[in-house]
Amino acid sequence: MTKTYQNYIDGAFVDSGSATVDVFNPATGAVLAKVPDSDASTVDAAVQAARRAQPAWEKKPAIERAGHLRRIAAKLREHRTELAGIIVREQGKIQQLAQVEVDFTADYMDYMAEWARRLEGEVITSDRVNEHIFLMRKPIGVVAGILPWNFPFFLIARKVAPALVTGNAIVIKPSEETPLNAFAFAELLAETDLPKGVFNLVSGLGRSTGEALVTHNDVGLITFTGSIATGSHIMQAAGRNLTRVNLELGGKAPAIVLADADLDIAAKAIYDSRVINTGQVCNCAERVYVERGAHEALVDRLAKHFKATQYGDPSARDDLHMGPLINQAGLDKVAAMVEQAKRDGATVVTGGQKADLGQGLHYEPTLIVDAREDMDIMRKEIFGPVLPIQVVDSLEEAIALSNDSEVGLTSSIFTRNINSAMQAVRELRFGETYINREHFEAMQGFHAGRRKSGIGGADGKHGLYEFTETHVVYLQTT
Ligand code: NAD
Repeated sequence: MTKTYQNYIDGAFVDSGSATVDVFNPATGAVLAKVPDSDASTVDAAVQAARRAQPAWEKKPAIERAGHLRRIAAKLREHRTELAGIIVREQGKIQQLAQVEVDFTADYMDYMAEWARRLEGEVITSDRVNEHIFLMRKPIGVVAGILPWNFPFFLIARKVAPALVTGNAIVIKPSEETPLNAFAFAELLAETDLPKGVFNLVSGLGRSTGEALVTHNDVGLITFTGSIATGSHIMQAAGRNLTRVNLELGGKAPAIVLADADLDIAAKAIYDSRVINTGQVCNCAERVYVERGAHEALVDRLAKHFKATQYGDPSARDDLHMGPLINQAGLDKVAAMVEQAKRDGATVVTGGQKADLGQGLHYEPTLIVDAREDMDIMRKEIFGPVLPIQVVDSLEEAIALSNDSEVGLTSSIFTRNINSAMQAVRELRFGETYINREHFEAMQGFHAGRRKSGIGGADGKHGLYEFTETHVVYLQTT
């Protein structure tokens, strides 16, 4: 019989109404489980639990809060293999990458715990005699964390760890596509001594559970990772209560390859950045601008990589580069974008259609040349294993085309010339630029997009402080 999960609210797994959502394995189509589609009253119970728990949590020394994060991290490591298996089954991630995600999640909890002794305010010079001005950083209160499906487990830590170490309580809503790993996280967390109500988990659809969370008056910060359309909607909904938002949205990362680049490094890094997680990553290379002199050699190298790509059901094999796409809509969108690109005059070098493996939502790894800046394939997020390439005649042209985008999350450049690399750094209007390496951020950096890629960011010191608000104290002594 299909298991039905229970929400985790106020330190207990509880029944929450009869509405449920089915969770599928995208590699087989099998229903894995049912999870609650939580309504507004359930969401309110979770928010109120967080609200009750938060003051005592805030009072604890930060180093004690950090201890809780470390104990959760240890639990995750104890169960690292089974956690990876859950991600493989519900998200379709290959086994190695799912394992990296679990291990990185545990490391991230530890990393944020390290900040406990480094949370600092400021002492500001006063204009008055014997006055002292202190700027303190304090928790916001109740944080709502709304997650996407593409790195579902890591995204829990990216919200929970900075929220908790700074003294907030949190309510998490995982994506309806991938909630099972979040329930596994809650089950392990429940085995630790974390005070009840500090972490709560409610599952459900965006229009029901998500909507109730983002319009709740007692939520102080909505930290959301997902699509631009949903981010824009959430920002409007948050406007009702003037709730703070932190939005990590979509990208359309350009990779610039100059004629002087090491093309073996460039091809491997761009390929890795494109097929990782079956192309379903916000910061992975979505479009290439290559200088004319390197075009043929780059395409040859990329084509070899694309043709050698192994894909299929990641539960069945551990030697794959890619699994399926997350759902039928995602697969149909990728297929439609490639068809449109062909009609617009682009040429498919390899791949170019849905892959029939008997089951699962697979798309052939696809390399496209003759792309132009007016094509949707060069302007809209594909979120699949499809790489379009456009020829340019100069670095300046590549930078101008890269910047001519409504999004600005990540970018990369491949060159042996330090001057060209630094010109790109000066002129690219993106939150991140990778030079001669694949697109993948570090936990101590700051992952933040420009334009419609988001508001605020995550990771490192700057990401941590997004979970705090300031309190300035003027102390007059005699
Ligand atoms: P999505 O916007 O469809 O869903 C994300 C979450 O929002 C889900 O939990 C969903 O249930 C919820 N949601 C939907 N409607 C809602 C509403 N009205 N109110 C509240 N919540 C609602 O995104 P997705 O398909 O899960 O994720 C893919 C997108 O995420 C891509 O565009 C990708 O680029 C982006 N992404 C960005 C980053 C980043 O760091 N910038 C990281 C990962 C993914």
